[in-house]
Order: sequence, then C-alpha cells, then structure tokens
Amino acid sequence: MIVIDNILISEDVVDKRFVCDLNKCKGGCCEEGDAGAPVEEEEMQIIREVYDQVKHLLPPDAIREIDRTGLFAKDDEFGWVTNTIGSNKGICVFAFHDEAGIIKCAFEQVYREGKISWKKPISCHLYPITAKKGTNGDYERVNYEPREVLCKPGCNLGEELKVPVYQFLKEPLIRKYGEEFYNALDSIAKGDWEEIDFKEK
Ligand code: SF4
Ligand code: SF4
Repeated sequence: MIVIDNILISEDVVDKRFVCDLNKCKGGCCEEGDAGAPVEEEEMQIIREVYDQVKHLLPPDAIREIDRTGLFAKDDEFGWVTNTIGSNKGICVFAFHDEAGIIKCAFEQVYREGKISWKKPISCHLYPITAKKGTNGDYERVNYEPREVLCKPGCNLGEELKVPVYQFLKEPLIRKYGEEFYNALDSIAKGDWEEIDFKEK
C-alpha cells in the first residue's frame, strides 16, 4: 500500500503495466459493467449543460432512453451513474460507434473538436484505476481494477510497451489529484520514497 496524504494507493498502480488497446477491446468498458459510469454532483451539472452539444452524436435509442428516463440513474453501489440503454447493464447513453465499430464517448469527441472544455466523467477518464472514498469520507482508496477478459489486451499491450498503469493514466491522475500528487507517486514508483504505515480504520 502506498500512502500520499489521505489517499491509499494499491501498489498495482505502480507495479502493473497497462495501455488500452482499443482495436482489440473496441471500447467495451462503456458497454459492459454493472452500471453506467459513476458521476460526481458537479459533473452532473456539466452534463446537463453540454447535453445539447453532444446530442447529435448519440444513436436514436439513446436519445429515446434519455427522454424516457433521464440523463442519470441511481445505483445502489455507485450512487449517481450515467444512464444506460435498456437496463443498468446496457451501453452508456453517451456512447456511439465510430466507422471501425469502436465505442466512443460523445463528450470526449466534442471536447477533441474544441467545442467543450470538459472531457468526460473522471471515473471514465481514470479507468481501469478506480477511486472510492472511505466510509467517513476522510480517506480515499485508489485501486487498479481492469476487466479480466475485456482489458486483457490492454494488460498485454502495457507489458509489451513497458508502461506502468500510473504513467498511462497520468492525465486523469493529475486532473483528479493534482500535479504534486502525481510527482510524489512517480518518485515512489522510482524507489525514491519513505514508506508510511497505515492502520486500517
Ligand atoms: S460517459 Fe463516455 S466514457 Fe463514460 S461510459 Fe459513457 S460513453 Fe463511456
Ligand atoms: S479500460 Fe479496458 S475496455 Fe476500456 S478502453 Fe481500456 S482496455 Fe478497453
């Protein structure tokens, strides 16, 4: 376990290697899962504001689902999540397929076109790193949780390219925790650190 301030990071984040292999997984994490993507309160407000700018990319059944049941759904385990088509195990309503059949995120697409300044929910941006607040909200656990089958090609590509998980996810880690946190994690990964004991609460 690595501890930086009140953030407890699994050693897998620095020890394991990973690079998404979209050609092989086809962006399946936007479709396969127990629920839509977890969203924070302020992200829900952003999504409401930018919805009209991404709507043209969404398939008709996603728009019908949003009209019928809304942009979000409440999940027992994850709290507010992006809505999904048909059931809580379906594809995210903000996903579309490109010409190659790869699932893409409408927010990210419009962000890349320079039309909005928000890329996508931080939970999606960080995945396969997951972040969960402790029961009392006074600490946070950061884990590496790739899908066993779906992310396997990403694990293999990471091994092949020798890219540690935290380096592949540098941008979202800095987005969520800041540059100082990332630099501390980088020093720890490179062996330049003091280990701190943490007693589980
Ligand atoms: S919000 Fe975007 S990245 Fe996240 S699950 Fe939906 S389509 Fe995928
Ligand atoms: S996290 Fe896994 S399923 Fe999602 S894009 Fe990366 S390799 Fe594919």
